[in-house]
Amino acid sequence: MNRYPKRDDLRAMSGYHSPQVSVPVRLNTNESPIEPPTEFVRDLAAAVGDIRWNRYPDRAARELRSAIAALHQVRPENVFVANGSNEVLQSVLLAYGGAGRTVATFEPTYQLHSHIARIAGSTVVNGNRNGDFTLSEDEVRRVLTDHQPSVTFLCSPNNPTGLAEDPALIASTVATAPGVVVVDEAYAQFSPHSALPLVNDESRVAVSRTFSKTWSMAAARLGYLIGPTWMIEDLDVVALPYHLDALKQVAGITALRYVSHMERGVADVVAERERLLSEMRTMPLTVWPSQANFILFRPDSTGGARSGGARSGGGPAGGAAGEIGRRVWQHLLDNGVLVRDCSSWEGLAGCLRVTVGSAGENDAFLVALRSAVSARD
Ligand SMILES: *Cc1c(COP(=O)(O)O)cnc(C)c1O
Repeated sequence: MNRYPKRDDLRAMSGYHSPQVSVPVRLNTNESPIEPPTEFVRDLAAAVGDIRWNRYPDRAARELRSAIAALHQVRPENVFVANGSNEVLQSVLLAYGGAGRTVATFEPTYQLHSHIARIAGSTVVNGNRNGDFTLSEDEVRRVLTDHQPSVTFLCSPNNPTGLAEDPALIASTVATAPGVVVVDEAYAQFSPHSALPLVNDESRVAVSRTFSKTWSMAAARLGYLIGPTWMIEDLDVVALPYHLDALKQVAGITALRYVSHMERGVADVVAERERLLSEMRTMPLTVWPSQANFILFRPDSTGGARSGGARSGGGPAGGAAGEIGRRVWQHLLDNGVLVRDCSSWEGLAGCLRVTVGSAGENDAFLVALRSAVSARD
């Protein structure tokens, strides 16, 4: 084969893996189980008719940025918009990370923070969360002091563990970080607090948000960042010209007319989440609390977890826990339910993550899970 080698620093890397399997119940990527309102679809179809397809879209996405700014009571100059919040994060890393610079994350957390940082050529340093997945100020201070990162990521609520970061910890991180701090708030609508009040032109903190989860618009690939004016100007330097197509701009503008629909959907998901949590707590599982639309859990290695009739073997720790997690994941899949397998991730041995779905999807999940973790005899 006439392959040409990619960059040396990408040799050991593979792409981002989240299998998209075709199953009846998909609870693996934290999307909303709720369709956008029919009025949204109708308005959008009408707006599509007005797009001038032979012309480039508004490069500055002024109307969309104004609508987002109005939602958060900031100025459009404080809003950067991109193709999903992943592209927002990539833009931040292109502007402030890159070769010779260091990016800090606190694990376990959203995998794409480190992944995109490496692709942008940055060196990644990982701090560690406590056993209960909270984050200590001492650990943050250690990482910031030892490594002087130019970009520090926090994720609140944290994916995949579920809890929002302590607001005091976010504030102290922003106050002491040598570079920029990005608070990834993909699940903000579920959180008791936001870092948005910390954003101003004198600070170095920015908040990223997405339309992919609560807004029921994962298909549109739209995300944004609220940050200081100077940061928005820097991000405009690295963004490709006309990166945000006209269709997406109008989809975002239209979605923002249905805030109350979105908020009702969040309330429904929270009610379902609490139902799932209380059911799951009756099973032989470790279940972590959640302030988001997903739940992290680990089948107990002594609970008789099985799949396909095979009895679980081995002790409670390490590889055995990972193996049981994997087997429960497979059992769920065999029963038509896809969840996220985190069992081989650093710090998450044996753990799975389930997205809160519709009531019917959640019922199917609970039935499949109960059979996966119940002892046979
Ligand atoms: C889902 C998710 C995103 C969303 O990314 P998009 O590119 O906007 O779909 C970003 N950050 C976290 C932590 C997420 O879980």
